[in-house]
Amino acid sequence: MNKLILKPGREKSLKRRHPWIFSGAVARVTGEPVAGDTVEVHSASGEFIALAAYSPKSQIVARVWDWGKRDIDAGFFRERIRRAVQERDTFLDPSTTDAMRLIHGESDGLPGVVADRYADTIVMQLSSAGADRWREAIADALMEASGAKRVWERSDAEVRKLEGLPAALGPLRGQREPTRVVIKENGLTFHVDLEHGHKTGFYLDQRDNRRLVRALAGGRDVLDGFCYTGGFAVNAAAGGARSVMAVDSSGEALELARGNAGLNAVSDVSWVEGDVFLLLRKFRDERRAFDLVVLDPPKFAPTAAHVAKAARAYKDISLLAFKLLRPGGILVTFSCSGGVSAELFQKIIAGSALDAGVDAQIIRRLGAAADHPVALNFPEGEYLKGLVCRIAA
Ligand code: SAH
Repeated sequence: MNKLILKPGREKSLKRRHPWIFSGAVARVTGEPVAGDTVEVHSASGEFIALAAYSPKSQIVARVWDWGKRDIDAGFFRERIRRAVQERDTFLDPSTTDAMRLIHGESDGLPGVVADRYADTIVMQLSSAGADRWREAIADALMEASGAKRVWERSDAEVRKLEGLPAALGPLRGQREPTRVVIKENGLTFHVDLEHGHKTGFYLDQRDNRRLVRALAGGRDVLDGFCYTGGFAVNAAAGGARSVMAVDSSGEALELARGNAGLNAVSDVSWVEGDVFLLLRKFRDERRAFDLVVLDPPKFAPTAAHVAKAARAYKDISLLAFKLLRPGGILVTFSCSGGVSAELFQKIIAGSALDAGVDAQIIRRLGAAADHPVALNFPEGEYLKGLVCRIAA
């Protein structure tokens, strides 16, 4: 068996069941493992620690499959995927929601594997050499555990490059068509574009937060910044908003968003193609006012190295948003940057309110929906943070 032997003391994080092994922790490799092979991880003193997938090109040189000695084979994936899929069944009502994350990577014991269910289609995204090696077994196990009709692959995330893997896209099980599917989320209906949508197609992690926005929107003038395919905007309109304006820089996303408004018979949304940073300034100068602003920007800080720049961007947009709010208005603001902690995000928003000259309270803290669990041994799994702030009336 191929082995990774760690430097003295470098088994500590693994003993706390953190599933990543960084290249700097490895003293030597025995045998001749290639990318994707399963290796045994041993401490410097020779103790068995874990079975992991080897990825020599990545700084994360191995990711743990299991903490005990067992076969890593198709049966392993069948078992782990069945467990994860069964757990999802317990908290979502299939009559109103048929789209959910089935596999959430490390937090489901499957590093590098993400799988989202969109009605009868599963979109699978593999992002590590180990996951890539087991593509066929994972696709079979997903079909079997979920009862879905097809598996579509969207392994085109940037991180694959760090693992030395090419992009892999398209149908893996079942038919190619249609490439656009219709899903239900909290009783509303949305199109998901399998080929061109972001990530696997839809931001399922925002499901509960969209419902909250629906509940808050009644009678309000709503601005949805970074609307993508209209998740928040359509919910706000369905919740009886007085007006909804939704902004995104992607014309393609807005085309789908318009279709989504149509599917739900909410025609009164104004869709604006533009840059939120510029538009918020323009609205400030024009003294436009709203009662509810949602800001769900892309990841400004993918890693800790980008934090300072990301903090300025979050501050910029939330400060402008506070200025656009009428007394009693609500800001719902998110960060999906792994590099920005919840504590830092709150500080940024507090600084924005101060500089905008408004008094604000946090009335809710938001995170990703329950089908995006965070394993306690893997805090990196927590990325989405949201704050609902109300400014004084
Ligand atoms: N709120 C959405 C998800 C937003 S994803 C939902 O619930 O589904 C982030 C979006 O920001 C993407 O659609 C991207 O096109 C858009 N975007 C990125 N930079 C932007 C900018 N400067 N101005 C406007 N939109 C931007």
